[in-house]
Amino acid sequence: MRVADGVYVLPIPRGSREAEGFLNLTLILDDENGNTLVDTGLPGQAEVIASALANAGIGVRDIRRIIFTHQDLDHVGSGASLVRQSGARVLAHAAEAPYIGGELKPLKPTPEMLEQRPQMREILQRLEPVDVDESLQDGERLDLAGGTRIVFTPGHTPGHTSLYLERTKVLVAGDALTAEEGRLNGPNPAVTLDTDEAACSVRRLAELDVETVVCYHGGVVSEDANGQLQRIVEESSGNLNK
Ligand SMILES: [Zn+2]
Repeated sequence: MRVADGVYVLPIPRGSREAEGFLNLTLILDDENGNTLVDTGLPGQAEVIASALANAGIGVRDIRRIIFTHQDLDHVGSGASLVRQSGARVLAHAAEAPYIGGELKPLKPTPEMLEQRPQMREILQRLEPVDVDESLQDGERLDLAGGTRIVFTPGHTPGHTSLYLERTKVLVAGDALTAEEGRLNGPNPAVTLDTDEAACSVRRLAELDVETVVCYHGGVVSEDANGQLQRIVEESSGNLNK
C-alpha cells in the first residue's frame, strides 16, 4: 500500500489465521540513496516479505538498508535471512544492538508473556541474531527520502526508535503507538517495559507535524494525525493526575 510518494506499507499476516492480524512493515524507496526496509516480521517470513516487496515493484536484492525500530522478535524475525539475500546494512539504536546481535538475550518475551502465550517459545527458538552495522542517534538526520529524522522513543524497549520522514510528514512509529481501524492509540501496556518512559516518548512524537502515522500493529492512520496525537497525550496526562 502506497501511503506517500516513495513510501509503502507492507502488511504481512502475523499467522495463518486472519484474526491474528498483520504486521506493518514500511518500505522507503529512494533511487539516489537506496531503498530501506523498516522492520522484518517474524522468523520464517522472508518469502512473504519478498512477495510484498515485489508488489511494490522491487526485489529483496534492491534493499540497501534495514532499520530496526527495536529488538522484538516480530520486528527483527526475518532480518538475518533478508540480510543474507540482500547484503543490506543494518541500522538500530545502540541500546538495542546487543539484543539484536545476540550478545544479550532479548528482553521480551518476559517469563510472564511466555506464560500467557506459550506458542512464542517455538518462534523464539527460530530467532536468528543480526549484526547491527550502524548505530542510530536521537535527532540524527539520514539522507533518505528527502531527510529522515531519527526520533528516540524508548519505553516499549530501552532503545526503541521512530522515524520521521520530513518531506512526506510520515511518522513510522514502530510500537511507540498502536492503531485500530484508523484510531491512534498509545503503546500496548501489556508489552511495554516502561510505560512512563513510553508516555514521554508519545509526547515527543506529538511535537512533530505529522500527516500519516504508520503503526507496526494497526497500520496506517491519516485522519487528523496531529489531533489524534494530542488526544493521546491528554488522555495519558489525565491518567497521571488521577
Ligand atoms: Zn511489535
